[in-house]
Amino acid sequence: MTDEFNAEIYYDDDANSANLENKTVAVLGYGSQGHAHAQNLADSGVNVAVGLREDSSSREAAEADGLKVGTPKEVAASADVISMLVPDTVQPAVYADIEDELEPGDTLQFAHGFNIHYGQIEPPEDVDVTMIAPKSPGHLVRRNYENDQGTPGLLAVYQDATGDAKDEALAYAEAIGCTRAGVVETTFREETETDLFGEQAVLCGGITELIKVAYETLVDAGYSPEMAYFECLNEMKLIVDLMYEGGMREMWDSVSDTAEYGGLTQGPAIIDDGVRANMDETLEAVQNGEFAREWITENQTGRPVYHQAKQRDVNHEIEDVGARLRSLFAWAEEDGETEDEKEQVRA
Ligand code: NAD
Ligand code: MG
Repeated sequence: MTDEFNAEIYYDDDANSANLENKTVAVLGYGSQGHAHAQNLADSGVNVAVGLREDSSSREAAEADGLKVGTPKEVAASADVISMLVPDTVQPAVYADIEDELEPGDTLQFAHGFNIHYGQIEPPEDVDVTMIAPKSPGHLVRRNYENDQGTPGLLAVYQDATGDAKDEALAYAEAIGCTRAGVVETTFREETETDLFGEQAVLCGGITELIKVAYETLVDAGYSPEMAYFECLNEMKLIVDLMYEGGMREMWDSVSDTAEYGGLTQGPAIIDDGVRANMDETLEAVQNGEFAREWITENQTGRPVYHQAKQRDVNHEIEDVGARLRSLFAWAEEDGETEDEKEQVRA
């Protein structure tokens, strides 16, 4: 790997709130990230307005949270920083709506690089284009801020028209609580490509297929679906928790010697060179834009492939087995708690 991807990390001391002073931030969207950014910015003393469609069901929530609300175009008109927090597939249309409100020196701010990196949004040269991407769902960005903790995040500058793009982005990161935990500097390209590859190869695609194929292998060999579910899906969380806490080493130390030996020898036999070659192909489609073109076309044509693939996945037998077992668990757990125990918890 070249030096292109050597990461800097920034903390509170590196940020200066003066870089957002007397500026107004328009937060477009009030979903997972939008509600957290808007509330954290406001609590940090930043001037905020939320941009939502006239008929948006989020309007009431944003107003109840004490925030100023207008249409995306209205709030963008009087804003210095415009934070694009509507869904990625919707951003190009929202951008087209607010584009005329961008003045020289304004900032277009993102939490994910897809639309800039793949050219779906092409801002004028006289505005700053930055990214502050918390590495966590929005409700945790808000909760961590309220608990005086932080949420780690990423920072990237795509276009620095004013010369202050990075300092302003750091002030934004501080205001939403990210510099408390650490902000890693990256590029729009690196953030977008690693994010897409990770969710496809491991986090969302790889892990679900690994579980389903292993489940099918056991059930096809005559073992009970319940056993297959527990072994292949339920225990996954326990193992991942150990790795999250203390890396692979803590996981290996916690399982039996037999599990360790079998895992160490059979793991590479299952995730073999064929899987490696598949991963290279997946990464290549992300890098050369093939995946992005496919997904953009999907969204322009009513998502035919998406709907079919999702049906196949939610109708998999493991979903019914899991739902049934989890409902038994929940019932058993709740019922197992005596009235005394419940009282103690309430006290
Ligand atoms: P979301 O789906 O939770 O919320 C989007 C909000 O946008 C909606 O609540 C609504 O207020 C508004 N909206 C929806 N459709 C709209 C339309 N047609 N026109 C105008 N407004 C509309 O979105 P999110 O998950 O918060 O994602 C926002 C950005 O943050 C994306 O770029 C995403 O990649 C990025 N991001 C998300 C997470 C996460 O955990 N959810 C984490 C890091 C980065
Ligand atoms: Mg402006």
